[in-house]
Amino acid sequence: MDEDLAWIAFASRDRDADGRFVVAVHTTRIYCRPSCPARRPARCNVTFYKQAADARAAGYRSCRRCLPDAVARDATAVAHAATLLARDGAVPLARLAQAVGYAPHHFQRLFKRATGVTPAAYARALRSNRAVAALAAENSVTDAIYAAGHDAPSRFYAADAPRLGMAPSVWRHGGEGETIRWTMVATGLGPLLVATTTRGLCRIALHEDGTTLAARFPGATITPGDAALQDLARRIVTLVERPPRGDLPPEIRDTAFQEAIWQALTTTPPGETRSYAELVATAGGTD
Ligand SMILES: [Zn+2]
Repeated sequence: MDEDLAWIAFASRDRDADGRFVVAVHTTRIYCRPSCPARRPARCNVTFYKQAADARAAGYRSCRRCLPDAVARDATAVAHAATLLARDGAVPLARLAQAVGYAPHHFQRLFKRATGVTPAAYARALRSNRAVAALAAENSVTDAIYAAGHDAPSRFYAADAPRLGMAPSVWRHGGEGETIRWTMVATGLGPLLVATTTRGLCRIALHEDGTTLAARFPGATITPGDAALQDLARRIVTLVERPPRGDLPPEIRDTAFQEAIWQALTTTPPGETRSYAELVATAGGTD
């Protein structure tokens, strides 16, 4: 553990650091989560422990104000809620919060802080992923729409289709006739693939690259993007990049992060009239 960074996180009451370590205070013999609202002791009076158990073993007791031991319970609740959303589709917030034993508003904030997106946005991401998988597997676009859990095609065309970057029927046929430009951006969760047609983004995915893109779209011309595309992709990642929470299962972190990127893409960058999605689609693209 980098103690200087830990001290900065503690000094600034960084909520993102909760769960990464606890801070034991020599003078009071208690340990806290980094975001504890209590007054800050002098740097020389604290010891950082990666695990609360280590602080306890060293003779410290948990703070009654910030309840550092509840951090693990929070992470478990968030992971459990994500599993429920994967199993049952979009669940109303009140029901979801009740299922994991929290008040709705509090849980919404907790989930967003841990994953970067709301439970509703997370559910949308899962459904969008299902729609993409169904497009390749089902016999028709209509079959895919229902297989993905939509009760009407209009929902699919409003929510998921704009993320394809091409007509759903073209996607189903391996991107036939499309030219796809792609680039890779480094993120805290690993390399991120950003791929676009001239119509818009068609793929945002961690742990994928030009090879997986070519396998997904055998009918398309796959070509590396230029510096402008790289630059824009980097700007988008910077918008949503936060230190990943180490206490969440990787597939939940990845899904939430990709969704946060898509959300950022629908916003308009400062000084621009077009969204990031439109900018990426046109960056260096003359084809
Ligand atoms: Zn505390």
